[in-house]
Parts: sequence; structure tokens; C-alpha cells
Amino acid sequence: MITETASAGPKDAQPSTRARNEAMLALLPFSDRQDFEDVSRGLVEAASTEAIRRPNGFPIWDLGAYSFQDAPTAPATVNPSLWRQAQLNRVAGLFEVTDRVYQLRGMDISNITVVEGDTGIIVIDPFISTETATAAMDLYRRHRGDRRVVAVIYTHSHVDHYGGVRALVSDDDITSGRVKIYAPSGFLENAVSENVFAGTAMSRRSHFQYGIFLPRNERGQVDIGLGKAVSSGTITLIPPTDLIDKTGTRLTIDGVDLEFQMTPGTEAPAEMNFYFPQFRALCAAENATHTLHNLLTLRGAEVRDAKAWSAYLNETIDLFADRTDVVFASHHWPVWGSDRIRGYLEDIRDAYQYLHDQTLRLINHGLTPMEIAETLTELPPGLADKWYLRGYYGSISHGVRAIYQRYLGFYDGNPAHLNPHQPTEAGRRYVDLAGGPDALLDKARAAYADGDYRWVAELVDHLVFTDPTNTAARELQADALEQLGYQCENGTWRSLYLSGAHELRNGVFHGVELTVATPDTIRAMSLDLYFDYLGIRLNADKAAKLPTRTLNWEFTDTDQTYAVTVRHAALTYRAGRGLPDPDATITLTRALLDQISIGDTTFEQAINNGALRIDGDPAALTELLGCLDEFHVMFNIVEP
Ligand SMILES: [Zn+2]
Repeated sequence: MITETASAGPKDAQPSTRARNEAMLALLPFSDRQDFEDVSRGLVEAASTEAIRRPNGFPIWDLGAYSFQDAPTAPATVNPSLWRQAQLNRVAGLFEVTDRVYQLRGMDISNITVVEGDTGIIVIDPFISTETATAAMDLYRRHRGDRRVVAVIYTHSHVDHYGGVRALVSDDDITSGRVKIYAPSGFLENAVSENVFAGTAMSRRSHFQYGIFLPRNERGQVDIGLGKAVSSGTITLIPPTDLIDKTGTRLTIDGVDLEFQMTPGTEAPAEMNFYFPQFRALCAAENATHTLHNLLTLRGAEVRDAKAWSAYLNETIDLFADRTDVVFASHHWPVWGSDRIRGYLEDIRDAYQYLHDQTLRLINHGLTPMEIAETLTELPPGLADKWYLRGYYGSISHGVRAIYQRYLGFYDGNPAHLNPHQPTEAGRRYVDLAGGPDALLDKARAAYADGDYRWVAELVDHLVFTDPTNTAARELQADALEQLGYQCENGTWRSLYLSGAHELRNGVFHGVELTVATPDTIRAMSLDLYFDYLGIRLNADKAAKLPTRTLNWEFTDTDQTYAVTVRHAALTYRAGRGLPDPDATITLTRALLDQISIGDTTFEQAINNGALRIDGDPAALTELLGCLDEFHVMFNIVEP
């Protein structure tokens, strides 16, 4: 037994953590090794374990960092079920799925699937980063020859399914028509908007969810359930050339037949499954993978629809199951054999329907979010022990709270919770109630010794938010979050807890600013989105001092006109027309606006060098610009 006193570094598992993790071994069918067979099936060549790095040394992708996972049994600091998933996700390389269908797995969080056509290849979901996508395609081509890309398919609007596209395709390929890019309708709007409005906060929260700044070891990041990690390279985006919008759409691309099923509102707002009749193979996008998936990703997003997810999987079964010998997705490994495929899809369908219906049943009995999460802790017999429904990425606990959110929102109905004090104010009062910081810490240390880490986290959070300089509080809080992390079956929960502990001990890391607001994303923004975002940046305290302003914007290259009004510290606009008697008319190109957004130039420079013309009162623009906030991604989370 190891019981250490607080010190600034990761601790070992405490007795109650050990006991909880050991109990998992009896709970789940670890002797079932089918997944280990499937994950290696068709291996052509294993991926290199050499790290891909940024010029400054920061790792973009580092499979070799996970070599500690060779150990067959889980260390006490890792939930054995997550350890099993971590080992599966570590099997990386080029795999033959079936004749003419290959996958590159374990080389980013997602999979690239390559389908070989008559003259070239169709590439499905080119990873997050160009660096990882390049390494993957090099591995593919070493074995399958230098086949040209004839088409790319984005299964859905998440960055891990398009960000590496410029490793495969150039603008010239698109303008010349040599390469087509297919995506579900709504792809671009959703891909961009999800990363813009709340993008800074989502980026920061995703650092926690994915454990980006954690060391890779048995007391650190081991896996995120959906894959090893997210890559940290160059994110690109080429807009689709062809949108698919109807279930039943059939296409032949380079001699390969495809049948599409639209699944909007499932795992992403724009998503689709598709079937290859010649290969009896089904691509299930991210709708059926080897984890219970997120109804609400903890980095933050709009909540998803469990009911729609279940219904679309029902349709998938009806459309394709009888004709399918292999189902693959853009994460994890395929499932082969028509009986197993049907059971797999039906189980996942049932799981989302069960969570949806049982949550609403409990809601209508008057239970509130945490009460539901504590009541509905397992799927029913027959589903609970299915490895592909364990909560490695999504979880029942945050899934049922997401369903509550979808139907009832943030308020649990209890007026005592309607208008509570904000964290620092509540903290001060709780610390006072406890008898001061030392008395609070005494209570918390006793709870820690009892293994009640959830209570420690709740209690000491009040003290940290009252006095973030209290080192004893920070260390105890870090210790408690860490034990909670060690117990998690869920890879993102583990990363969140351990990232919290890491920042309490080490402070916020400022070495690298990772955001998804990349040049391609900015260029792909509609002007509506641009002006929406300008409004989001408007600092109300400053803008409230401005008189009402009307600015007409004329974009000469795209022939678009916008009328922007700033009134009462709110920015509104009309697309497609100017307003009479504006304070100023601004004439520029969309290309210039993009250069300004990317940071290649500024409004001031553009005004000075004549690239941007202002007719009327120049102050109307400069005053507006003076009211815009800059967002900095590395804000505090575990302290005020
Ligand atoms: Zn994904």
C-alpha cells in the first residue's frame, strides 16, 4: 500500500482506487479476445513508432510514447477496461479491410480508408493534420503503388475527418476537375461554424478532453477511447465540390459504386453512411464505433439527438445489413460477418434508444440531471457487457445529462438552484462555513483518506476559487482529481481530471497556442459568419459609448454588399443590400478581409496603403475596430 503525502507530482493509486479498478476485472468479459483478432486482421505493415514533430519539437503524433502499454495487465493507475481499449487503439498501420478497401489506423485519432477504383483511389476522411495524413499515404503507397487520388469523401463535419486534406489534394486538382470532394449537405457551414462562434473556448476545453499537455505514461494520458490522441499538426480544409443530400443517392466513382444514407443530427450535424455493393462493405462514418459515443462532447458542442441516432441506425440495418460482409468506420477497427454486423448495429441502435427513453422516463418522474446519472449507471443486460458499448469516449453519465439538456436545458427546476452565487462568491462563503481554509482542508483530507474523491473535489474547489495561491489546497485538489482520473473507464474523463491536476500543480502551459481558426477555416467562412463573429467580439462596455453607426461594406471581388449596424452595443447586419445614409461605406475585397483575419495585414495597413477605401467618416470604422476583443485560448479552468 502506498500512501504519500502531498507533493508536486503525480501520485500512485490509493487503496480505494486500486480496489475500484480491480473490481472491473470481474465485471467485464476480459477473456473475450475477438476485438484483438479483428484489430490486427489484414495487417499489411505496422506504422512507424517514430514521432512526427513540429519544427520546435512539439510532438504532432507520437505512437512510440505509448510503448509502456506493452504490459499485459493494467497498472493500478489505469482502469483495466480503458487499458484494454488503449491496447487495441495502439494497433497501428496499413490494413486490408476487404479486397480493394484499405485502412490506415492508429496514425491519428481517426482512420483514413482508401478504396481502390479502376484508375485511382477514393480517400475517405483524411485525418486532422497534413503531417499525419502524409505519413499514412506514404505507407499506403509503399505497398499499393503510386495511385492517384480521384476523389475524397468527408463522412462528416468534424475536423478529424477533413483537416489533413491538403496532404492529398491541391487547389489545382480541384479547379482542373481532376479530384472531386464529396460531403454530406451542410458540411461546410457546420465544419466552420462549430469552430468559430465558441471556437476559442472549445479549443481550450479540448486540451483538457484530449490531455494534450499531459505526459504519456501510466500516470498520464493513455488513450482517449476513440483513439490514442488527437494530432497537433497543420489543419487544412478544402470545401467539397459535390454535396450528397438524399438517402438512396447512388454514384459511381472511378468504377466504384456507392449508395448513400444521410444521417444528419447523429454524431455530427452533417453526416452520412455509405455502402459499396461491389465489395459488400459498409462505411458507418462515426455512427457505429467501438465505444458508446458522445451525445454531448465534453469540450462543448451543441447537444446531439439520441433518438435520431437510433432511428438512423435502424434504417442502416434495413438498407444494408443483409448485403454487408464488413462494416468499417472512421475510428477503430471493422466488424466482419453478416450475423455479427447485424447484432453490432442493433445493439448500438438499442443503446441510444434505451438511454433516450429511460432518461425521459426518469425526467418525468421528476429526477434532475445528477440524480438520473446516479440512477441510470449501466446499460441493460445484453448490452452492458458489449465492449463496443462501454463508455470510453461517450459515457452514460454525461450522455443522460445531455439528453436532459436537450429537452429541459440548464435549469433543473429547483428554485434553490436558479440563481446561486458564482464560484468565487460561493467559495468564500463555503470556506467561511467550514471554519476557514485549514478546517476545510482537514475535512477534505479525511475524505481523501476515505477515498471520497468526488467530495474532496467539490469541497476544495471552493477554497481554490477563494484563494488560488493556497498551495496546500491546490495540491490536495490535484491529488483528488488524479485519483478520480485513475478510476475512469472513459478516456476523456481521465484526460480531463488529469489535466486539471496537472494545471493545479504546474500552472497553465503557454508554450503553444493550439486553435482550429486556421487560414482555410477563415477563408471558408461565409460573410454572414464573419459578421456574426465580429458581433461576438464586440466589447459591450466600449461599444455602449458609441453613437449608433451604420457601415455599408462593398466586396468588389465577390460582388457582395452588407449593411452593418452597431446600436446599443449589438452588431446586426443585412446581407445583400446597403442602408441609405451610412456613416461610412467600406470598399474592399473578400481576399483582403481574409488576409486581415489571418493576420497577414491589418485594417490600418489596408487603409493606409489604399487597399481598403472608406467613404464618409473613417472614425465609424476605426471606433468599431477599437471595440473588438481578442480571445486568448489559454484561459484558466481549475482556478479563477
Ligand atoms: Zn471523429
